[in-house]
Amino acid sequence: MTTSTPPLSLTDAPPLSDAARPFDDLPLTAAMLAAVRQLGYLTMTPIQAASLPVALAGRDLIARAKTGSGKTVAFALPLLARLDTRNFAVQAMVLCPTRELADQVTQEIRRLARFADNIKVLSLCGGTPIRPQVASLEHGAHVVVGTPGRIMDHLQRRSLKLAALSTLVLDEADRMLDMGFHDDIVFVAEHCPAQRQTLLFSATYPEGIAELAQRFQRDPEEVTLAEQHADSKIRQRFYEIEHAQRLQAVAALLRHFRPERTLAFCNTRQQCRDLVELLRAQGFHALALHGDMEQRERDQVLIRFANRSCSVLVATDVAARGLDIAQLEAVINVDMTPDPEVHIHRIGRTGRADEAGWALSLCSTVDRRRVAAIAQLSGIEPEWHDLAELPAGEDAPLVPPMVTLQILGGRKDKIRPGDVMGALGGEAGLTREQVGKITVADQSTYVAVARDVAPQAVRRLAAGKLKGRTVKVRVLDDAD
Ligand code: ADP
Ligand code: MG
Repeated sequence: MTTSTPPLSLTDAPPLSDAARPFDDLPLTAAMLAAVRQLGYLTMTPIQAASLPVALAGRDLIARAKTGSGKTVAFALPLLARLDTRNFAVQAMVLCPTRELADQVTQEIRRLARFADNIKVLSLCGGTPIRPQVASLEHGAHVVVGTPGRIMDHLQRRSLKLAALSTLVLDEADRMLDMGFHDDIVFVAEHCPAQRQTLLFSATYPEGIAELAQRFQRDPEEVTLAEQHADSKIRQRFYEIEHAQRLQAVAALLRHFRPERTLAFCNTRQQCRDLVELLRAQGFHALALHGDMEQRERDQVLIRFANRSCSVLVATDVAARGLDIAQLEAVINVDMTPDPEVHIHRIGRTGRADEAGWALSLCSTVDRRRVAAIAQLSGIEPEWHDLAELPAGEDAPLVPPMVTLQILGGRKDKIRPGDVMGALGGEAGLTREQVGKITVADQSTYVAVARDVAPQAVRRLAAGKLKGRTVKVRVLDDAD
């Protein structure tokens, strides 16, 4: 998808159905349209173009599209458009499968809500103490975003009241069902007023979703966007390999294809750990993401991968799915998944607008059946390759362009990204290009800096002051 609109010409105009459509045709206020533009969203993504008119008209909706297709905006704009900001009661609620997803959704809604002064968006997730959430709810909120279990908790304590709710969103509904949230969702939905709009978003459409839709939606409009991998830039290769060799094969593939960022999928947590260990022993910058990790660790790993200071993220499906980490140079299936839809979903993370992405799958003999199912579902002819044909070649280690520095001090200390940029930049300091993403968390701030200037950056931060006080800084690399 292009982000700029080419000048229209009668001869080479694309067919209307494929043309990128601006947001301006939607029934949104000028202020909301300005907020959308400010985020750099110039044209609607296909799922947005299909869902927004329906949802803004007040209809119930089942929208199905892969990760990274822009579903958040497709429900955030309709729920914001319906808010009565003068009424300090919860009017919209979004259920998400994990805290990371809920945080991403909360942030996106907040960014879009900047068109009005006073919209309060609250995240209510497990894994953090409940008392402060109760206090925040007492102060009033217009929108809550949370995981089903914690929302249910609040309903049982009566700290969350839904009498004024007009929009209920089930985001990543398939994933919530996979994670066993069915009964919690039912409990929560039954506590919502019957007069409401219910928007359901999902990447796949298993049996359980139809059941939920039938139970909690009224005459929903269904919008499905077929996977468009046939003409996409994903180059898919399958390698047949003995089970015992597959971890070593991942290292060989990385050395050969040299992707800047790779997401490697394993089916078990143990395999995630084993692979990370093997890759690190060979000099790769690799991190694991799986369900056994503490929330804070998981957050840190995602920050480091997103800011380009880690080359390989090794994850299970549960941990990785739905996260806003798309446009990777490569996806490696260390284990094949038994579900062809999950496979298509996994590899949908790679392939940029202008560059090809690699989807590399390691298969044992028993996986041949799985590959056949994938080929059938996505209409491809599987390309089999032999690992032995990779030239032994280049042994230079794969090094990520950035390093993450952790500053011990964050939102609680009122640190803002501008403070960090201020401390790093200035005379004889780092240039804009040498400073990457700055992420301010509660207790820590993470800043990506170009690898070659990391020591200099640490010295500057340690010598200078942030918000009037000296801060501790450490480099997060490899074995952390
Ligand atoms: P999904 O929920 O379908 O996985 P997200 O809502 O997380 O997708 O969006 C994926 C990415 O696309 C985000 O980084 C978001 O900022 C970006 N995005 C969303 N809508 C647009 C748009 N209209 N134009 C450009 N980028 C967009
Ligand atoms: Mg999403």
